[in-house]
Amino acid sequence: LTTPAPSSTAPTNGSLAPTPTATLAIPTPSPTPAPARSSILGLDALFTNPVFAGGIGLAGLGAAAAFGRRALISGAALLRRQLLVNIEISKRDPSYNWVLAWLAQPRDTNTGFLARRLTRLRNLSISTATKSLSPRGVPDEGGAAAKIHADFRVQPGFGRHVVRHAPGVYIAVNREKAGTATTATGEPHETLTLTLLWMHRHVLADVFTEAHALAQSFQQGKTVVYTARKMEWAVLGKPRLKRPLGSVILDEGVAEGLVGDVKEFLRAQQWYTDRGVPYRRGYLLYGPPGTGKTSFIQALAGELDYSVAMINLSEVGMTDDLLAQLLTQLPEKSILLLEDVDAALVNRRQRDPDGYSGRTVTASGLLNALDGLAAGEDRIAFLTTNHIDRLDPALIRPGRVDMMVRIGEATRYQAAQMWDRYYGDIDEGDKGRERFLRRLDELGLFGGDSSDPGVPRRHTSTAAIQGLFQFNKGDMEGAIKMAEGLIPRTFEP
Ligand code: ADP
Repeated sequence: LTTPAPSSTAPTNGSLAPTPTATLAIPTPSPTPAPARSSILGLDALFTNPVFAGGIGLAGLGAAAAFGRRALISGAALLRRQLLVNIEISKRDPSYNWVLAWLAQPRDTNTGFLARRLTRLRNLSISTATKSLSPRGVPDEGGAAAKIHADFRVQPGFGRHVVRHAPGVYIAVNREKAGTATTATGEPHETLTLTLLWMHRHVLADVFTEAHALAQSFQQGKTVVYTARKMEWAVLGKPRLKRPLGSVILDEGVAEGLVGDVKEFLRAQQWYTDRGVPYRRGYLLYGPPGTGKTSFIQALAGELDYSVAMINLSEVGMTDDLLAQLLTQLPEKSILLLEDVDAALVNRRQRDPDGYSGRTVTASGLLNALDGLAAGEDRIAFLTTNHIDRLDPALIRPGRVDMMVRIGEATRYQAAQMWDRYYGDIDEGDKGRERFLRRLDELGLFGGDSSDPGVPRRHTSTAAIQGLFQFNKGDMEGAIKMAEGLIPRTFEP
């Protein structure tokens, strides 16, 4: 709006001066276009530019793809949560090895199930076990002509696999190392994850039942021996064929007495429970080496269908703490075998006047292990020693050691029994056996029965007789001729 300034110059001629008026000048709108309009016109130009429009289109597509992808991921995660089921098995769990073995196992060879199952496992690993076989194919007989038999077992390796369990039922398997964690035995920690559709989750029960049954079938007719590896129990080698009780020949009535006592104890569990007495029994087998103590315990475990959990107390690195820890996790259904129990007591006297050593098992550590807090409620323990004279009388107390049995040098009874086992089928009229026993008498090997007073009283071990008979397989004359070799050698310095 513009208002013209009032005229400051009045007319001088006296005439009426016109009254000053204000004029309101309303400017007419300018015909020029607004600036906004011009910028829209600029965008038009941009949009009409094919390069720019294409870019926008691509960006839009990209955003949509990213959105779609995110939706897909969260949708997949949701689906996974809703539709899939994951089972993670740690290497520490006993079922870990069962499931690994089950995965590589044929279950229906008629339909070629093995082939189909394994072809889906791309990444395989091999576990190999070897054993020496005698020329007759009998394990553990050794000898120069023994062959090494290797048993290869294929397992799923690390990574992802898919296995077909049944028509239309697939199981995704992921075997992986779990970071830098290690197991107590120092091996890398591993996990196995099985994933399957929620609607197939009932299959898991079958998987674990079959895997367990399979693991048991591997052990059928075998005795598993556990030994201490670092902080935990580990299976020693492969399960061994059960040793028949009759193959360990103790003196007359000794084996029967021990077996009868253990069986009686196993039957009496309710008696212990009713009276609140810990359900434990301890046996001490003592005597010189090579008399069959360890072999008898193994055979007994086989007879009872038990495992053997073995600790050698003279082993380097075995301490009170470790012993206590191992006893708290004794494998199910196993006989605890503590070998060389005198080692603990020798250590105490010779090295540790105050009764404690961080490096070895002490007497009090052993006593605690047997009936202290770590002892566990349910246990059969066998202790062995070659030096009964070195044992602490505190050890021989009910609950720690309930029965002590000397397993000694070979008696005439044992020598005769062993002869029958090796040559019974070829020794007509037992003539060979009588000659053999007479020869051992002549050599004074049954503690001085020799008719010749010049022959010293001496003994031989059942291990030595077994060695003689194995060397002379099927050859009675050879065994009689070489009987002199049973005389224990003494080494003069
Ligand atoms: P220990 O534990 O008394 O030192 P082992 O049980 O280790 O003796 O026996 C050593 C070897 O001798 C084994 O191969 C075992 O088969 C054999 N042996 C020893 N004593 C006997 C026995 N009484 N009957 C059968 N074999 C025996």
